[in-house]
Amino acid sequence: MLRLGAGQRRPGRVEAHAVEDAARDRGLGDEAMICIRPVHSGQARTSIANTFFNRSGSPAARTATMRRGITGFLRAALPLLLLAVSGAAHAAEPRRVLILNSYHQGYKWTDDETRGVLSAIGHTKNVRVYVEYMGTKWSSDQAYFRQLRDIYQSKFRKIPFDVIVSTDNDAFDFLRRHRDEVFGKLPAVFCGVNFFQMEDLAGHDLFTGLNETAEFKENIDLILRLHPGTKTIVFITDTSITGSKTHDLFVQAVPEYRGRLNFQLLEDVTMNDLLETVARLPDGSVVLHTFFFKDKAGRIFEYDEGIELISAASRVPVYGAWDFSLGHGIIGGYLTNGFDQGRGAGEMAARVLSGARVEDIPPVMKSPARLMFDQRQMDRWGIRRTDLPENSVVINAPPSFYAVNKGLVWGVGVGMAGLTLVVALLARLYRETQRAVRMRDEFLMVASHELRTPITSLRLSLQTLQRAERMSAKVGAELMSRSVGLAARQGERLNRLIDELLDVSRIEIGPLPLDLRDVELGAIVRDVVERFEGDLSRVGCPVAIQGDGAISGCWDRSRIDQVVTNLLSNAVKFGAGKPIEILFGEQAGTAWLTVRDHGIGIEQAQQARIFERFARVVSIQSYGGLGLGLYVSRRVVEAHGGRIRVDSQPGSGSSFTVEIPRAEPGGGERKE
Ligand code: ADP
Repeated sequence: MLRLGAGQRRPGRVEAHAVEDAARDRGLGDEAMICIRPVHSGQARTSIANTFFNRSGSPAARTATMRRGITGFLRAALPLLLLAVSGAAHAAEPRRVLILNSYHQGYKWTDDETRGVLSAIGHTKNVRVYVEYMGTKWSSDQAYFRQLRDIYQSKFRKIPFDVIVSTDNDAFDFLRRHRDEVFGKLPAVFCGVNFFQMEDLAGHDLFTGLNETAEFKENIDLILRLHPGTKTIVFITDTSITGSKTHDLFVQAVPEYRGRLNFQLLEDVTMNDLLETVARLPDGSVVLHTFFFKDKAGRIFEYDEGIELISAASRVPVYGAWDFSLGHGIIGGYLTNGFDQGRGAGEMAARVLSGARVEDIPPVMKSPARLMFDQRQMDRWGIRRTDLPENSVVINAPPSFYAVNKGLVWGVGVGMAGLTLVVALLARLYRETQRAVRMRDEFLMVASHELRTPITSLRLSLQTLQRAERMSAKVGAELMSRSVGLAARQGERLNRLIDELLDVSRIEIGPLPLDLRDVELGAIVRDVVERFEGDLSRVGCPVAIQGDGAISGCWDRSRIDQVVTNLLSNAVKFGAGKPIEILFGEQAGTAWLTVRDHGIGIEQAQQARIFERFARVVSIQSYGGLGLGLYVSRRVVEAHGGRIRVDSQPGSGSSFTVEIPRAEPGGGERKE
């Protein structure tokens, strides 16, 4: 950081006392020390050999020799053991770095340097960092430095540092004078040393670090790039020691631009004159400001005060060379900055910690700098972001829409996602409702057709009989039997339809109640076929039953009967005129039954659907039925813990197979 001439105040607005005693904070107490005298390995070997191979002399002498031998062995081995233990202790010992800052905590430049150092050594394993602030912006006379020396001598007496990093000139000067007596001959890495020269290290070894200076050529080139019409560069600095060094450095850069640019130096002036001058600068001028801490009249300005006044008064753009002016009126520039100074020094310290010799790390003369700009000043002078060189850092940039409205963006996002979900749910609900309405309409149509057909037929049979009675005509026995048979069949059909409807509503309410008893499957099959005899012979469907002996299970007889009835009635309905086979058997405790017809068959794509409620895949004109038989059958089979499936080929016929566990009564295997 810039040094001021004697008696000048140093830049800095934050005046709070924040000196940190890192050693105390970290609770470092007295550290144990183990002193080990090295042992000659040959000596140890001889002792051990004497102990075990010297067998001459009397038993007493031998015992004495043995005692001496054991003592000798212990004497030889113990130091070796201690050496190993101390080696392990040493491996766990952390390396220690002291950051010795010239100024105080809270001073932006110093804080930036400290951050930079920490960013570079933070990655190094097992390192303890101590941060000390000398506070020389508050006091900097020789007596104070002597007091600091005495304080540090007792404060850091017990802390074995591996490397010291100093920031800015006062700490560098202090280390050059007192390092060896306070800390011992340790590697020291400096940064923030203004206009460092190799001569500064004459007579001081184990030092390396970074020069701090300004980059004027880069800044003049930057001004010409962003303001191609520039004719005059107006250079501002003060007349302090650092100011005159800065002047010299700037003057070295000038010859390269001779003939192209004029240079005007504003140095030994009062602030009032300076402000008046910049307020009247003609077009084609650009100000290059370094620092102006003290004017000709002796007025002191804080580092941000001076530039704020100058920038406000100037009628031409103002550029800078140090980052502490950024945000206070300069457009920007190729800026020397505290963070990069600290980081450079931290990197060197990290190399020392990794075993590099400090003598092998030469000081860096070109001070690190960065292209940095202030969006507010860019806007004032009409400079666009796209005009800037690559890798430029821009402060005060307007935050992105997302950054400003993070809550809103997330809120809208989440809201949209929620709405999309609700819309999707509503759409599904709508589709399901539509499907349900369609199915209900279809069902009503089918149901009215289905119910009306047997009733009409029943009514016709009864009317025939009534007419014959009214006419006192003798009804022939055959007609009588046909009419009564028909009426009975239609009554039966009606009965089945109503039962199916009742079953559906029962299933919807809850689990189907089962009356479980020991039942024989073959008996049920034979009963059903017997009941169907009339229908079977009427439509011409011979039935073959093939069963594996007596297969019984603990089932609800009427429900199993209902399933077989449904399957057989479908086989008759969809396979009229063709033979039907009913097969049953048992495998691994499960009874199975297949009803096979050779009728119209079912499309593959429809086969899963036919077990759903109201599912019909044939037209109502061709085939009757509510589309409930297979649905009810599936639910009955499932209530018995079984399953039902179909195997069908359109045009070749269908096989419906039911599998039900036989589970003995009380077996508890069955879902009910
Ligand atoms: P329904 O009681 O109206 O016959 P089901 O639930 O028993 O209704 O059958 C549903 C649909 O499955 C029938 O409308 C028919 O399209 C088809 N189906 C059932 N059994 C057979 C079969 N044996 N052959 C061809 N199609 C069948």
